[in-house]
Amino acid sequence: MNDRCRHLLLSLIVVIPVQFASCVKLSAATEYGSPKVVAVFAGHMEFSSGRTGHQGARSASGTYEYRFNDSVLKLFDRMKDQGIVYKTFPASLNIPFPNRLALAEKSGASILIEIHHDSVQPHIYRTLIRAKHGDPMLAYYRGFSIHVCPNAGSVGLAEAIESQMMSQKIPWAEYHTEDIPGERMKLVQGTKAVYKRESLFILRNSVMPAVIIECGCIANPEEEYLLKNGLYRRRIVAAIRKGIVSFLRGREALGRESRDDPWSTKQKPDLGRRTEWLL
Ligand SMILES: [Zn+2]
Repeated sequence: MNDRCRHLLLSLIVVIPVQFASCVKLSAATEYGSPKVVAVFAGHMEFSSGRTGHQGARSASGTYEYRFNDSVLKLFDRMKDQGIVYKTFPASLNIPFPNRLALAEKSGASILIEIHHDSVQPHIYRTLIRAKHGDPMLAYYRGFSIHVCPNAGSVGLAEAIESQMMSQKIPWAEYHTEDIPGERMKLVQGTKAVYKRESLFILRNSVMPAVIIECGCIANPEEEYLLKNGLYRRRIVAAIRKGIVSFLRGREALGRESRDDPWSTKQKPDLGRRTEWLL
């Protein structure tokens, strides 16, 4: 992320003083119906529009993140998996992020996914983009990660996707736990790449299991090269789709769709003590 992006990002982080910050309860209503709909959004927007969206991080070669997000999204288009259909919302549609939750619900979605590509803190970015093959930085600042509000549904979904990503040999990111400003994220217990992000608006206020997936680090020139490769992107999407199938089948087997679902209370969006609007 360069200085301009950093500035944009900081200007988009809104802190709202309210007493509690916790995930809203998930709704059972979105679980019914067949086929199951998965709403897949591309992170960010093609056109910056101030508070409601920007183009995302810059890659090592200078490409905006939203382009990578849309390239991954295309691979979900018109896909079907065992009674699951994917509704995609690319960045080129310029959907303001506060509208995305309502749009997912209106689409009848059971699951919400937002696709992103990662970056690093600004002082690391300047060095990382110039790193040459063999530099240990390239092996450290890379990999996928999954971000959730830690409710049972979203964590279950994230774990299922993490498991499939690892089966596909996609490297995972450990650097978000680094003890530096902007990182210091907490892993969900028992996972290697699922991070607790209670303060992210879209995750905290989703009434359906929701995850943000960082497919890899585009500030890393070697990983950017991989992420521009169609075959590599197909491996990532195959892993995400298998994770979704496994999660939904697991929920059905556990009878989570019964009327006794403890997540059936719908709540208004919780703006919480500290709200980050964008990743
Ligand atoms: Zn992003």
